[in-house]
Amino acid sequence: MTVTVRFAPSPTGHIHIGNARTALFNWLFAMKNGGNFVQRFDDTDVARSRQEYADAILYDLHWLGIFQDATEYQSRRFEIYEGAVDRLKRAGVLYACYETPEELDLRRKIRRTRGLPPVYGREALQLTHAQIAEYESDGRRPHWRFLLPNFRNDPMEPERTEVEWNDLVRGEETIDLASLSDPILIREDGTYLYTLPSVVDDIDLDITHVIRGDDHVTNTGVQIALFKALGAEPPTFGHHNLLTTSTGEALSKRTGALSIAGLREAGMEPMTVASLAVLTGTSENVVAAPSMSDLAQRFELGATSKSAAKFDPEDLNALNRDLLRQMPFDEARDRLAAFGIMGDHAEPFWLAVRGNLDKLSDATNWWRIVQRGPDVPPDFSENDREFVQKAFDLLPQEPWDGDTWKSWIDTVKEETRRKGKMLYAPLRLALTGLDSGPELADLLPLLGRAGIQARRP
Ligand code: GLU
Repeated sequence: MTVTVRFAPSPTGHIHIGNARTALFNWLFAMKNGGNFVQRFDDTDVARSRQEYADAILYDLHWLGIFQDATEYQSRRFEIYEGAVDRLKRAGVLYACYETPEELDLRRKIRRTRGLPPVYGREALQLTHAQIAEYESDGRRPHWRFLLPNFRNDPMEPERTEVEWNDLVRGEETIDLASLSDPILIREDGTYLYTLPSVVDDIDLDITHVIRGDDHVTNTGVQIALFKALGAEPPTFGHHNLLTTSTGEALSKRTGALSIAGLREAGMEPMTVASLAVLTGTSENVVAAPSMSDLAQRFELGATSKSAAKFDPEDLNALNRDLLRQMPFDEARDRLAAFGIMGDHAEPFWLAVRGNLDKLSDATNWWRIVQRGPDVPPDFSENDREFVQKAFDLLPQEPWDGDTWKSWIDTVKEETRRKGKMLYAPLRLALTGLDSGPELADLLPLLGRAGIQARRP
């Protein structure tokens, strides 16, 4: 059977780097197993879901380098869920409940004082026809619960019932169904909670592997029971640890700066974001993987740690610099051209400056300096001015070759008796207006003799 995974966000906001972790785990898993990636939008909450968020999520995923084989919207699949609801009702495992939240709360408190676990006591199973008719005539609408298979003959006497699965990340997992309340699958207004549509879709879309955050581990116990109640073999599950900032802060509250859109706007490269999102909290070092296939080689679900994956958002900057430092010209070419950086000099220019960029667009600053000279005329001491003038007088005639820089500097050293910082700092300042930057040897051919003489102080 073809490996098929899915990424299933609710389109109620923008995705952040933690959501990207889930998407990428699925994508890399599919990549490594020659599988398919299904995009599923969990938009059964019609009031909060918006197409513009779904579109933004697709845009973000494409930017990261994730391309879906199919895209599904739960809001277009209600008929399929209704079929499943009928089947569960016929099997007697979906039952109507009429309690209000206040009544449920009171019951929980009573159970606690009696030393019983605060789970739902299945009182609705014992309602008589007359009581139901009364509720209905009072205008109460039922919500619907799934009867967990945690009893032998009498649902009022639940007993320890272990659901087990071999988690791709966490190994052997066990959930005791007697420790859970029968989950509500349908609210009283008829809308679905996430649990049932997710299982129905996983069955219908032939999902073989469900890879998601470990906040869903308990759901998995319920969902495995639901797969079985619907006559389906449950898929394989893998629950990865969630990304948190180094102070342990969950990401949902920080979607602003750490949203994929925010990171893109801050100049982060897609592979910077992908590398950090995937490699944090695994046994691999967090490095900037230059491509998705490189990242796939470093990715192993089983090597993901069970505790929270803490990261420092500052690390993104260092990774981005590393990534740009190794980026081949071919990969940068079109984006540079969009900034007007093109022509014969574009490639040597890129190779000269790529090690000095926080973000790719910083290349425009260097391009301007190479084309037009320092942004601000350098302020030299008398001594340094004379030194630079002398050095410029010694500049060899063109044509230049790969040895020009060395022979020029050797002559300047000999003639001026300067070396080290005393020699290089004023030259750098004269040529770029700055006190650090690309290798001067690499800038020289880009400036040319005329370009350098134009910078004469
Ligand atoms: N919509 C659910 C979520 O975003 C999907 C969980 C799942 O992958 O099953 O948490």
